Amino acid sequence: MAVLPIQVFPTRVLKQRAKRIKNIDGPVQKLVRDMLETMHAVPGRVGLAAPQVGVPLRVIVIGIPEEEDIVLINPEIVRRKGERVIDEGCLSLPGFFANITRSEVVTVKGLDQNGKEVRIKAEGLLAQALEHEIDHLNGTLYIDHLDSIEKLQKVAPPETKPKADGG
Ligand SMILES: [Zn+2]
Repeated sequence: MAVLPIQVFPTRVLKQRAKRIKNIDGPVQKLVRDMLETMHAVPGRVGLAAPQVGVPLRVIVIGIPEEEDIVLINPEIVRRKGERVIDEGCLSLPGFFANITRSEVVTVKGLDQNGKEVRIKAEGLLAQALEHEIDHLNGTLYIDHLDSIEKLQKVAPPETKPKADGG
């Protein structure tokens, strides 16, 4: 396994539509393992899409803390419900975040790394991560959902953040 370098905006691969996977062969399974290792190597990560490691293929991995990792090949959002405005950032746009509108509930179908069909109905952080990572496969970054780039905010360095916990 290997930790792969994360592609940072404005690299071209992040703006491309990724290709569907026809056969889940050895190289695809290796890509999945490397993506999982790469995701776990970055603190605060909840997901990663193959274009973010420079591979224009439709593979995403999701790692919500305290939950089992999810691997999805050729994922598709089949249903979205509701709207909410939430903070969002991206490993490929380090140092920034923005408030964007996402769905409350999404239903996603795809294949796992063994080619088995999976269908996931998600809300909360998992729904957000699924929409964010599937956007990556379509060459869409969260900043593309902003009506103005001025809505992009800089992440404050940790030492200047107010300490709500009194520590
Ligand atoms: Zn991202």
